[in-house]
Amino acid sequence: MSQPIPSITVLTLNIPTPSGNSPIHPVLLRDEDGHTLVDTGMIGQFDELQSTLEELDVSLSDIKRVIVTHQDIDHIGNLGALLDAIPGLEVWAHTDEIPYLTGAKPLIKFTPERRAMLTAPVLALADQLLMQLPEINISRTLADGDILPLQGGTQVIHTPGHTPGHLCFYFSEQQFLLAADELRVVEDELVGPAPPATPDMPEALRSLKKLTGLNVDKVLCYHGGEYTKEPAKRIAQLAENSEA
Ligand SMILES: [Zn+2]
Repeated sequence: MSQPIPSITVLTLNIPTPSGNSPIHPVLLRDEDGHTLVDTGMIGQFDELQSTLEELDVSLSDIKRVIVTHQDIDHIGNLGALLDAIPGLEVWAHTDEIPYLTGAKPLIKFTPERRAMLTAPVLALADQLLMQLPEINISRTLADGDILPLQGGTQVIHTPGHTPGHLCFYFSEQQFLLAADELRVVEDELVGPAPPATPDMPEALRSLKKLTGLNVDKVLCYHGGEYTKEPAKRIAQLAENSEA
């Protein structure tokens, strides 16, 4: 069933792991001038992404742009496939993330150890994506405090630490915070970024402070999903604890 415009829809894709499916959550923004996908899923999930969109009556040609919260492969995994499938697709990202997204610098966490964890078919797709990166044109570079013309005004919050150009987005009309990987939901509780996947943890913890003081009813974490139990209070608590 079609959703109204403007509207925000949280998508769910599943990454199979030895301990079961691990859900991740790209977001679809519907606006007058076209749809925006925030993050693209893991490498190898293009078919699942496409069928998830189809269930929402969204075809690939409806998608005008992709906003990349950061460079990790579970977020940019289908960027190359989307660029191949959608002529003129725009890509928006933070300035500090651009050298990685365009292949000028190697992806920070796509190390030999990480590569070794992937199956051969996924690895082949990963290498294909890496080869495509230099062709990526960033249509709009995002900076902290920018207000994007999406959903009646979307605030860009630069939250470095998990990666240098990691972004969160605040939708004030919906009191909705898209936290990407700066926050997670683990066992029903909102927690900070995952230490093993966060190369600059002190910086990531400082970034938590930038998420305080927002009027937030709902937080979406890429890993863990939605959190609605007084999120503003919990975020303030996490930011305060991070100073200890
Ligand atoms: Zn992630």
